[in-house]
Amino acid sequence: MPSANADNPQIPLAKPVDQIPVGTVRTLRRKARECRACPLWRHGTQTVFGVGPEDAPVMLVGEQPGLQEDLQGLPFVGPSGGLLDRALEEAGLPRSALYVTNTVKHFKYELRGEAKLHKRANAAEQAACRMWLAAELLRVHPRVVVGLGAMAAQTMFGNAFRITRERGQWREIGQDTRGIASWHPSAVLRMPEKRRREEAYGELVRDLRAVAGVL
Ligand code: SF4
Repeated sequence: MPSANADNPQIPLAKPVDQIPVGTVRTLRRKARECRACPLWRHGTQTVFGVGPEDAPVMLVGEQPGLQEDLQGLPFVGPSGGLLDRALEEAGLPRSALYVTNTVKHFKYELRGEAKLHKRANAAEQAACRMWLAAELLRVHPRVVVGLGAMAAQTMFGNAFRITRERGQWREIGQDTRGIASWHPSAVLRMPEKRRREEAYGELVRDLRAVAGVL
């Protein structure tokens, strides 16, 4: 398995490479259940770790778990998961062949009455959780990494990256891994105008088709 710094130089790692957890995805998932590296473990029902084949050629990286993901312990199972499934099907990418994960592995929310409203993980929480994404990248070593949404894209390509300007553009991540970013399905769902929502959905499908095209 390659070294993280040598092969993934554009993915800023929170820890020296020798401190990134190692093991099979199953082992990593088990270790991540006990993670207390940031305060978010107190918020969530459980750690929501990545799922998919350990030799998947494509890794989809979302942002952080939502309410349904938190309850079920799986990434992309809520409304945004439904939209992602539809886009993947249209693009000809079977989800079962992909490794699907998030940048941050715990749900963060604020309470409004009884409702748990999604709250974005802050920079320190994102930095603390990068060791798990780094561990997944090292283990799965995908040929293509797809960042869905600004948090994932900026983790891969740097803070200056803008989805609105740079989505759909290929970038090299090390010697044999390429990266691309697109809209997060929940961002598409939140767009108030129907016309813009449909456009963004079309762009997401186009970007996923580009991924299918290089496999
Ligand atoms: S969000 Fe990430 S770093 Fe923070 S406790 Fe959960 S798994 Fe650990």
